[in-house]
Amino acid sequence: MPVGKIILEGEELPFTYTHKKVKNINLRITSDGEVHISLPRGVSKERLLSFLEEKENWIKESRQRILARKMQREAAWRNAVPLWQESIFTEVLDEVYARLEPYLEEKPKLVIREMKTRWGSCTPGKGKITLNKKLLYAPRICIEYVVTHELIHFLHPDHSKRFYHFFDTVMPRHKEYKKLLESQNIL
Ligand SMILES: [Zn+2]
Repeated sequence: MPVGKIILEGEELPFTYTHKKVKNINLRITSDGEVHISLPRGVSKERLLSFLEEKENWIKESRQRILARKMQREAAWRNAVPLWQESIFTEVLDEVYARLEPYLEEKPKLVIREMKTRWGSCTPGKGKITLNKKLLYAPRICIEYVVTHELIHFLHPDHSKRFYHFFDTVMPRHKEYKKLLESQNIL
């Protein structure tokens, strides 16, 4: 993704941009406070920079709000009891595994860590699933959704039709839970 820079209050702020089939220039601030722009092809650099200047206050305020929220979340995290954190993941894994036990050879080992871009992953060869610690901020059903998704990968390693067919069978509302998780804006 190409990168540019704007100066906000004397401070250099990098942004990334992509060309898309859109009519207008669209601006988005990620949950990490990064600025991302999508724009139609043919927009000149001058036009882009003047757009960013117009939006300077909005960018500043949004970033402040988002970064404050992020700090709050991180503080809440540090104050939480680690044992309690882990126990909800173990609890959910036990539940989901109980449902899928007829299909699986053994209960996978659980690894919990903070990840930037994904909610979970699985390593069937090592009989292990990894969950993103940030799931603690999501509703419990979303944790169930991620654990179910990862456990199904032990049967279907890709996101094929068979994967989703199985998902539909064991968790008919999984699409809804995925949307709910994405709407939490915590990744
Ligand atoms: Zn997957």
